[in-house]
Amino acid sequence: MTFLLLLLLLLIAAAAFVLSRRDLRIKHLSRPLYQTFRRILPRMSDTEREALEAGTVWWDGALFRGRPSARALHAIPAPRLSEAEQAFLDNEVETVCAMVNDWQVTRQDLDIPAEAWEYIKTRRFFGMIIPEAYGGLGFSALAHSAVVAKLSTRCSALSVTVMVPNSLGPAELLLHYGTDEQKNHYLPRLARGEDIPAFALTSPWAGSDAAAIPDHGIVCKGEWQGREVLGMRVTWDKRYITLGPVCTLLGLAFRLYDPDGLLGDTPDLGITCALVPSDHPGVDIGRRHFPLDAMFMNGPTQGRDVFMPLDFIIGGPSMAGQGWRMLMECLAAGRSISLPSSYTGMAKLTARTVGAYTVVRDQFRTRIHKFEGVAEALARIGGHTYLMDAARVMTAGAVDLGEKPAVVSAIVKYHVTERGRIVVNDGMDIIGGKGICLGPQNFLGRAYQQIPVGITVEGANILTRSLIIFGQGAIRCHPHVLDEMRAAQAADPEQGLADFDRAFWGHVRHTTCNALRAVGHGFTNALPARPDTAVAPEMVRYYRQLTRFSAAFATLADVSMLTLGGALKRRESISARLGDILSQLYLISATLKRYQDEGRQAADAPLAHWAIQDAFCRAQDAFTGVLANFPNRPLAWALRVLLFPWGRPFAAPSDTLSMAVADAISQPGGARDRLTQDAYVPHDPAEPVGAIEAAFTAVLDTQVLEARMREFEKAGRVPAADPRANVRDMAEAIHAAGGLTDDELNRIRARNALRDRVIGVDDFAPNLQGPSRTESAGDRS
Ligand SMILES: Cc1cc2nc3c(=O)[nH]c(=O)nc-3n(C[C@H](O)[C@H](O)[C@H](O)COP(=O)(O)OP(=O)(O)OC[C@H]3O[C@@H](n4cnc5c(N)ncnc54)[C@H](O)[C@@H]3O)c2cc1C
Repeated sequence: MTFLLLLLLLLIAAAAFVLSRRDLRIKHLSRPLYQTFRRILPRMSDTEREALEAGTVWWDGALFRGRPSARALHAIPAPRLSEAEQAFLDNEVETVCAMVNDWQVTRQDLDIPAEAWEYIKTRRFFGMIIPEAYGGLGFSALAHSAVVAKLSTRCSALSVTVMVPNSLGPAELLLHYGTDEQKNHYLPRLARGEDIPAFALTSPWAGSDAAAIPDHGIVCKGEWQGREVLGMRVTWDKRYITLGPVCTLLGLAFRLYDPDGLLGDTPDLGITCALVPSDHPGVDIGRRHFPLDAMFMNGPTQGRDVFMPLDFIIGGPSMAGQGWRMLMECLAAGRSISLPSSYTGMAKLTARTVGAYTVVRDQFRTRIHKFEGVAEALARIGGHTYLMDAARVMTAGAVDLGEKPAVVSAIVKYHVTERGRIVVNDGMDIIGGKGICLGPQNFLGRAYQQIPVGITVEGANILTRSLIIFGQGAIRCHPHVLDEMRAAQAADPEQGLADFDRAFWGHVRHTTCNALRAVGHGFTNALPARPDTAVAPEMVRYYRQLTRFSAAFATLADVSMLTLGGALKRRESISARLGDILSQLYLISATLKRYQDEGRQAADAPLAHWAIQDAFCRAQDAFTGVLANFPNRPLAWALRVLLFPWGRPFAAPSDTLSMAVADAISQPGGARDRLTQDAYVPHDPAEPVGAIEAAFTAVLDTQVLEARMREFEKAGRVPAADPRANVRDMAEAIHAAGGLTDDELNRIRARNALRDRVIGVDDFAPNLQGPSRTESAGDRS
């Protein structure tokens, strides 16, 4: 035994000696490892490399390193709107929302009204990301996000129409890569809405795999404005292009070839982005798709051998072939904002209206929010909405800090849209048939119809989860992996070896430290992981567990990369679950930050607790999923015992907590108002959302009368033979029996009229034509 111990000590000493001597380490360890690494690492194509290297690493880096610091999290400035931005939200956005009626847009006009188009253009909604110097609004990412979120609480066609020109497309690309001439010409026109942009990348043959587009251009000479110039003959066939049918400026991505060497000696220049006026000869636009009953403009575009000068290339001829890099570099900003904001808007609409509906609607002579089953669904609506908005704000804040958070943008795109789907589905379940029967009085059916659109666009969700979040995160956010890969692909092998030696041994140190910390935190349930700054005492547990989960994730990520290597790319389900862990940790961070930044509102605490506990449970499920499917079974077993020795630290949010969240969104007050801040709430009770607000207030204002009516009835004072003694007309019966004064009856009647408007659904002529007829008891009386 003593001999074995001595041998072990000797081996450790020898290893330490070799590791500490650079020359020995390189000779005996790093060089053979480097040679193997160079041999087995698949060569990356340029498009893969550009996609992986695009953007910046931000809070995701801290989570990947296993060391999220509470101080660093709270040192990130709390995003705030400027006065001008808030005024725009309160005035212009409010006004344009009032101009648009979703039902009319869908069923009658098949487009947003002309006056709304005009207002959007002249009030420079299309120029939110364009600097004031070019005539745009020069808004922060936060303001841009707030505008899209608010529009989404009103009408999807309106929100998509405004969202797309401010997302990845002509304006964004021009701002980063345009020549001065292109910027000076197009940006003011785009800002004023004189040009309507669209960006066409997707082809019928290349959707998710967009780099494979068959659309192509051939460099050649041709005639342009009466002169022979160097240009390109471009052929394309694109589909799904938002604003395509009405655009005046078409951004076009195609692969550019130079077979005759007119530009140099590279025959395949690569993906190229050009701006083509839609009235340019040969450009075919105008036909429309019909995306799930939504009326935003979307359609195909084609062109065959369309000659255009090289000056149409964004950034001019020198940017030929740089299109993929441009798209990848600019992707993060739009993806961080557009869909996370619009889905948060839909969630706010759901929380505001459905929360109130559960107070207005009675069944079994009980307000439905009091049923635990309904409260459970309300809790999901409230908790997820709180978290979604937290993630939206924190991520927009990152863009305002100059980040291009590539991995974070994929996280929020996927997880906010997926939570939006849960929220809207729950809302639909709660309001029952009211949500299903479409018509002017339906306030949620259209959001429900629109959910799959955002799931599919800007990187379809299955692909984003399976391939991008961890796939890109593992390389970008990991402190050493990218350096190791660069070293392995270095043109100069000796320089590569030196870089590899540094990166690899840094990696080993990093993994060892994290593994020790993760095991330590596992056994102590993260007791030593105290937050490094003052935080809300009721949240301390979550900061500790965030550190613990982050260290465990970093360990699991390293072990997965080490054991699965390149196969991890094919084992998408494992990669997806690793991405889920990283994502939940990001969402938890955003929720903790929101709670702190908003002054630790006690009334919001149930929302924050619910959201955080749910996200931790999802992270735990993902850990369990990875380990249950890990190919190396002994290693999986060891990791399970070491990382979670006492089992899962989190249980699903309790029923008591769910009831508290349900109360927060179904009672008037600060929590409900903060949760649904900047939702468009019309004051007109003829509008469905206006009617819910009015009915909600009326129900709460007549609570005392309602209680008295119940007492009166329970005391047996309503004559059994009175046919009005039913769920609809009880107040009339009680009034007749002397239990209500005339005034009180009138208040109950007014409340009932509003309530009946809310619970009423539209009906139409048998051929579904003509105006809808929605009557309420109030209308009938
Ligand atoms: C309403 C709408 C508006 C749009 N607007 C525009 C626009 O303005 N401009 C533009 O250029 N494009 C636009 N698009 C295109 C959109 O971005 C693409 O639809 C999207 O990239 C998906 O392509 P696809 O529909 O062909 O699905 P496919 O690529 O055929 O994917 C099918 C399924 O396979 C999954 N999948 C694919 N590859 C993988 C993988 N490696 N791992 C796991 N799963 C995978 C996907 O997630 C998806 O679920 C729009 C689309 C729609 C529907």
